[in-house]
Amino acid sequence: MKKVALVTGSSRGIGAAIAEILAENGWSVCINYIEREDKAEELAEKLRSKGCEVMTYRCDVADADGVKAMVREVEKRLGYVTLLVNNAGIAKQQQFQDITADVWKRVFEVNLGGCFNCTQAVMPNMLHEHAGCIINISSIWGSHGASCEVTYSSTKHAIIGLTRSLAAELAPTGIRVNCVAPGVIDTDMVQVLGQETLDMLARESIPLGRLGTPREIAESVLYLAGATYTTGQVLGVDGGFII
Ligand code: NDP
Repeated sequence: MKKVALVTGSSRGIGAAIAEILAENGWSVCINYIEREDKAEELAEKLRSKGCEVMTYRCDVADADGVKAMVREVEKRLGYVTLLVNNAGIAKQQQFQDITADVWKRVFEVNLGGCFNCTQAVMPNMLHEHAGCIINISSIWGSHGASCEVTYSSTKHAIIGLTRSLAAELAPTGIRVNCVAPGVIDTDMVQVLGQETLDMLARESIPLGRLGTPREIAESVLYLAGATYTTGQVLGVDGGFII
């Protein structure tokens, strides 16, 4: 069966590294984004120049109809999705009392709702084929609490619950569902913390003494994509942050 991957939120950061490593390893890849068409096209061009088959598609993963249209387009242009990486995510650091209902709703709609929408959209063919792989990107804050990260951490805990429960439900069908829980990874998302805080985290909280790279998360996704006897697992890739 043709290897076709949909990687949500893959114009930048961790998603871009995942799209790249999959394309380099023979997957046809859809690069999904919401705003940064320039970054998505730049990555697509780079991968096409290496002979990879890729497409780009703008779609808010929180929009269920938009996601269905995206999956139909991927099926038309690349083939049925055999690997879904639910990577798109947003974060907002604030104290609990300052979280508005709109922020709470939006972060859940993107981080968790995106997993729901995309998984439902690719599932009919996976069920038909009795095969397929879904990899969700959670976080170290998906198993541990973090001050000023209540909304984000709640969505990431839920993604781990979704992964384990769906893996149990789908195992008899041959579809595997796993999760990667990154630590602090050097992308745009963490820049809001400021260099001083990032240096302090590396020094005091990360036993390996440095931030992770997007490529190091991508390597774990590639591993799980091929780990045919592994389902329902959460793979921590965090430099020892959580031991
Ligand atoms: P970035 O902020 O660097 O990139 C986010 C990506 O998601 C971009 O490609 C962005 O598209 C896309 N995106 C955002 N919202 C949507 C949406 N509604 N629909 C579709 N695409 C969207 O994030 P990271 O690469 O750092 O994070 C990727 C994932 O890894 C997230 O789920 C995050 O929670 C998780 N993670 C990150 C950690 C870190 O330290 N960086 C640690 C633990 C987990 P566009 O370019 O168009 O804006």
